[in-house]
Formats: sequence, C-alpha cells, structure tokens
Amino acid sequence: MAQTTANPEHEMIRKSVKSLCERFPEEYWRDLDERDAYPTGFVQALTEEGWLSVLIPEEYGGAGLGMKEAGIILEEVNRSGGNSGACHAQMYTMGALLRHGNEEQKQRFLPTIASGELRLQAFGITEPTAGSDTTSIETFAERRGDRYIVNGQKIWTSRAEHSDLMLLLARTTPKDQVKKKTDGISLFILDMKDQADKIEIRPIDTMINHATTEVFFENAEIPVGNMIGEEGKGFKYVLSGMNAERILIASESIGDGMYFIDKSVQYANERVVFNRPIGQNQGVQFPISQAYMDIQAAKLMRDKAAELFDEGVNCGEEANISKYLASEATWRAANAAMDTYGGYGFAKEYNIERKFREARLFKIAPISNNLVVSFVGQHVLGLPRSY
Ligand SMILES: Cc1cc2nc3c(=O)[nH]c(=O)nc-3n(C[C@H](O)[C@H](O)[C@H](O)COP(=O)(O)OP(=O)(O)OC[C@H]3O[C@@H](n4cnc5c(N)ncnc54)[C@H](O)[C@@H]3O)c2cc1C
Repeated sequence: MAQTTANPEHEMIRKSVKSLCERFPEEYWRDLDERDAYPTGFVQALTEEGWLSVLIPEEYGGAGLGMKEAGIILEEVNRSGGNSGACHAQMYTMGALLRHGNEEQKQRFLPTIASGELRLQAFGITEPTAGSDTTSIETFAERRGDRYIVNGQKIWTSRAEHSDLMLLLARTTPKDQVKKKTDGISLFILDMKDQADKIEIRPIDTMINHATTEVFFENAEIPVGNMIGEEGKGFKYVLSGMNAERILIASESIGDGMYFIDKSVQYANERVVFNRPIGQNQGVQFPISQAYMDIQAAKLMRDKAAELFDEGVNCGEEANISKYLASEATWRAANAAMDTYGGYGFAKEYNIERKFREARLFKIAPISNNLVVSFVGQHVLGLPRSY
C-alpha cells in the first residue's frame, strides 16, 4: 500500500518508529487497556530514542525536525496498534513556549523537556461549564506581587498524573471586564509537582484508557516568570499551537485508520465462509477500499497543513480540515473493520474493539467536528457565525 512519501528521511523515521513499536505488541496495549494503566515503558522508550522531542530545535536539545516528521512518528505508533494519546502532548505543548516564550524560559525548560527529564504533557484548557466555548473559562489567575494565585477547575486534563508541568490557560481579567472576549486570558507553565498540595487530580473513568482527569486548583502559585508572553494574550498563543495539535491528531487518526485497513485486509483474505475468503464479496471489500481512499485523501490534506505549518504560514483552514477528514475517514475504516471481523470484532483478543473505541475520540476531541464545520463555514467561506 502507498506510503505518504518516498522521501528517504521519512522512510527512515517510519522504519525506526515501527521497529520500536514492535517491542510493544498489541498484547501490551490490550493489557494496559484492561487495567486502565499508563504505558510507562513505551513512553520511556519513545523518549529515549528522541522521538518525542523532534519538534524542539537542536539548540535546545531536540532534533529540530518539522511537523511532517512529527506526524509520521505518531501515525506509525497508532498504525502499530499503539495509542499516542499517552504522550503526544509532550511533542507539541512546548510549541507555545517556543513561539511565544522569552529566551530565559526557553533555556530553562526546553532542554529538560527535550531530554524527558521534565514532562510537559498536561494541557489545561477545557472546563466543565465552558466546554467548547474556551473564552468562557473561569479558572482565574490573580497577580499578587511576583506570583499568580490560581483558583478554579479544569476537566479532561489528560496525563496530569504523568506530567511535571502543565500548560495552563486561565483568565487574568474577568470576561465581563474585557472589550474582546478573547482578551484577558493568559497562558502559564504551572509546576504541578511543586504545587502538588494545592492541586487535586481526580481520574475520570473513561471509555478509553487515556489517563484523563479533573484538576482542581486551590491557591496554586505560579511565579510571574512562568507566564508565557504578555498577560491577557494567551488565547492567541494557544490558537497558534492548536494548529499543530490538529495536524498531529490528524496523523494519529490516519495511523488508526491504516491499522483498521491493514487488519481488515489481512482478515478478509484469511477468513473463509461459504468456501471463499470473505474479502471476495464486494459487500466486505468495498467498504475497506472506500475507507482506504478516504484516508489517502485525508493524508494529502494533513501533508499540506504540515508543510504550511513548517513554512510559518497560517494553516488554520488546512489543519482543521485535515483533522476533520482524518477522523471521519478513520471512523469509516473502524466500522469497515468491525463489519469485516463480524462477531470476532467484539472479542477483546482481536483488538478491533479497543481501537474502535480509541478512534472514536478524534471526532470529538481536541475539537468536535461540528466546531470544525462551523469554523470552515464562518472563517473560510464567509458565512454568518452559526452560534
Ligand atoms: C479522552 C479525552 C481527552 C481529552 N483531553 C483533553 C486535554 O488534555 N486537555 C483539554 O483541555 N481538554 C481535553 N479534552 C476535552 C475536549 O477537548 C473536549 O471534550 C472537546 O473540546 C468538546 O468539549 P465538551 O466535551 O465540553 O463538549 P461541548 O462543548 O459541551 O459540546 C457537546 C456537543 O455539542 C456540540 N456543540 C456545542 N456547541 C456547538 C455549536 N455551536 N454548534 C454545533 N455543535 C455544537 C459539540 O460538537 C459536541 O458534540 C479531552 C476530552 C476527552 C474525551
């Protein structure tokens, strides 16, 4: 089957990541899923081989590669049967710091994030009452001398228990006191270990093993020197990072999609019913082929978005569209796999049901596909704002 590109460096990355993933077979992921356990060994291996720090420039200890290469890494992890959700944020969350932080902050954090000594895996945006309406967040950081004092609550903060730092979005001016609702929101690096007694983390029991939590802040302190960029401009900084997140999520989704295609093709060729392989029936074969074509199209849009991102061009349209197309194509592939496997798709030992649950997430998070469609309608096509 076609790969994204014949670029030799990309092929080398694919092969190396694939070979690392072979050390963590599907039994490994299934066992973790059943125990709701964190893939510590896998994340450690990925960190040690430097794959999680590829987006960090060489001068700060990373590989200085681009979004395309980062996408290939996550795609291969998910195609192998693994779940990048355990650690993908370590790759891109530092982007806010890289693009908007000052030199002192970069020198202080980036080399230790690159080495994996410090994990910046928690990204605190979503709140229970605000939901998709990020400007309605209420977690508040009040300046007192050389510190900000944080009170409030986040929800769906993934990997909080496995992170040293959190990239935290909080209001520094109440919404009813700003001219534009996107103003008055600031972005911080919160040292979660240092503030452990002022933060309560409550795991959420979810449909997938995603280490996601609710986080409560009670007078948690952040030194002024840990605010990224200017006070009140955090929403803008987070938006630029969201394009990276969308492209990487699209990549994970494409990896999931290709997992379903690989497995479906293999099973449809092997399983014999009515004296012929089930893949000989168009009712089985066509949904697999159709999903494959959809995934290939999504891949092209992902590649375009990644190229624009690496050129420093605004790629909001392409990043959002690629996340939408990839998650929808992969959902079709997931259903094609379920149908191909018949009853066996439900048996945990075949892994399809686990990946089916995991792949569903990307239609909802990190942004729901309804919101992507609204974005395209309003910001790309110039239609009236629908909400
Ligand atoms: C497993 C998991 C991990 C996550 N990890 C993180 C994380 O690490 N950090 C973080 O900050 N967040 C995280 N999230 C949160 C995620 O980004 C949100 O769930 C997502 O943005 C949707 O927000 P919501 O759940 O509040 O849905 P809501 O905003 O309540 O929306 C509910 C439904 O209504 C629809 N809807 C709402 N408004 C409109 C509208 N105007 N037009 C059309 N449809 C609309 C949405 O599409 C959605 O289907 C995670 C979520 C999950 C499930």
